[in-house]
Amino acid sequence: MTDHRNTLWQQLPETEWDIIVVGGGITGAGVAREAARTGSKVLLIEQQDYAFGTSSRSSKMVHGGLRYIAMGDIRLTWHSLVERERLLNEAPGLVDRMSYFFAHYDGGGIKSNRWAFYILLMAYDFLAGIHDRGFFNTKKFLERVPGYRSAGLQGASRYTDAVTDDTRLVLRVLDEARRDGAVTINYVKSEKTLLNGDQVSGLQVRNVMTGETADLRAKVVVNATGAWVNRMRQDVASETVSVRPQRGSHLVVSSERIPLNDAVILFHPDDKRAMFIYSWEGRTVIGTTDLDHKDDLDDEAVITAEEVRYLLRAANHEYPNAHLTDADIIATWAGVRPIVSSGKGLDPSKERRDHAVWAEKGMISVSGGKLTTFRQIAQDVLTAAEIWLPGLKTRDRKAGIFTQPTNSVALPDCTDDLYRRFTGKFGYLAERFVQEMPSDELKLIPGTQTLWAELRWALRHEQVAHLDDLLLRRTRLGLLMPHGAEECLPTIRAMALDEDWTEACWEAEVVRYRDIWQRYYSVPAPVRVAAAA
Ligand SMILES: Cc1cc2nc3c(=O)[nH]c(=O)nc-3n(C[C@H](O)[C@H](O)[C@H](O)COP(=O)(O)OP(=O)(O)OC[C@H]3O[C@@H](n4cnc5c(N)ncnc54)[C@H](O)[C@@H]3O)c2cc1C
Repeated sequence: MTDHRNTLWQQLPETEWDIIVVGGGITGAGVAREAARTGSKVLLIEQQDYAFGTSSRSSKMVHGGLRYIAMGDIRLTWHSLVERERLLNEAPGLVDRMSYFFAHYDGGGIKSNRWAFYILLMAYDFLAGIHDRGFFNTKKFLERVPGYRSAGLQGASRYTDAVTDDTRLVLRVLDEARRDGAVTINYVKSEKTLLNGDQVSGLQVRNVMTGETADLRAKVVVNATGAWVNRMRQDVASETVSVRPQRGSHLVVSSERIPLNDAVILFHPDDKRAMFIYSWEGRTVIGTTDLDHKDDLDDEAVITAEEVRYLLRAANHEYPNAHLTDADIIATWAGVRPIVSSGKGLDPSKERRDHAVWAEKGMISVSGGKLTTFRQIAQDVLTAAEIWLPGLKTRDRKAGIFTQPTNSVALPDCTDDLYRRFTGKFGYLAERFVQEMPSDELKLIPGTQTLWAELRWALRHEQVAHLDDLLLRRTRLGLLMPHGAEECLPTIRAMALDEDWTEACWEAEVVRYRDIWQRYYSVPAPVRVAAAA
């Protein structure tokens, strides 16, 4: 891995790139994917790990967003629904349809009015071009969502959206970009924009693993740095845009404590904000908050004790017999939305989620938007880049994002569901994966939907530089298993040593991983103190 990385790094200055994409989140990955198919010379760099920013910390929904239609944002909803349907068709197993329920109660007001809600769902389905909605009476709903608040319950409306693993979505889009010739490298940071006269001519970049720097040449630079967008943009723009970072946090609990195979929408009992409780990777997730994020963007976002209490209160209100406490929380995560601010001082939940693109001196900057709409965002970015790269005009704007496995994949002892998930994650690489990985590792890690071999594959082929890359992003074991998947470490150690990690490197990585997990993915200390008092 290190050798491969070093070789890649050494070669970067040798090419004059058509496009250098800065930022390895879903936006950058989408741009690299769409640009690579035109035959352009494309490089993507990421200062940390792929999807390290918001793209590993979203709510993981591929959705139109019912609340956006309720807010009157028809265009964003429609675009998102079109993309949702496309992703469902192209990447089954990676993006899967999920039922969403909204419970109606006696005296619940307009928001809980079954018929008003039904009209909203009709419009939602109409925009998506599907008919997949209905009403569950109380008995049927409680059979489907056991333990849900039943006093005064009239029944629940059902509709569908979709769910994904956001990081794996980024990784699969990057796989497709590389298949079409793009070069991608993580742990390489853009430090300075190079100008020739008043046109961008490249970037000065730093290899974060070694400290080395290099000057890279490019015809166009795409600044897909999300919440960091202004940092690069200030090299080419006299005025920067008002990006309002907003934090959203989530809790993961076991599906024994809150059994759920679907999603429920609810309004928080205190401030009536819309939230979700939903099934993800065999666990139940409670989220999200929506708060102005004032912390340094270079620090990883982290949930606060107050947010934990807020989310637990909502869950305990909807599941009155669950009595969830901090002890039930397996892990937490927090992400920062780069909202392009209206400047009107709106409540954070009321700011629009659209993306914005700026083209200046050969740098295209992009920010805002959603995971769901990454393909459309990429198209807008490339349209803006056509002035500098007219060859981009020939691209097929409707082409599929993903290539499918050519043959059926011989994954032993697998259910239909596992097969779908596996091919959804690894796409055209699934066949090679099964041929290359040891057969005794082609089985699930107990209590998860992850194969042991996914760890080895990632160590060998997915540019894993740190243990946290492996446990928090290539796989999500650190979010799904108690204590950050501590129990898997002995087996992973053996694999890592097998894949040429040294003993000293392993020891250092374990210390680093435990520290990161404790600081950013566990329950913050004040909650534990309050619970113990
Ligand atoms: C709490 C929350 C929930 C969400 N839920 C959903 C959802 O359910 N569905 C949905 O569709 N959308 C959702 N979103 C929105 C979605 O997650 C974001 O729109 C999307 O992930 C943004 O991706 P991005 O690539 O633009 O930014 P990021 O993922 O943040 O990527 C930017 C990358 O740029 C890198 N970078 C920055 N500076 C440099 C540099 N100088 N050199 C190299 N690299 C650099 C960063 O390290 C980072 O990895 C949610 C967002 C949040 C915060």
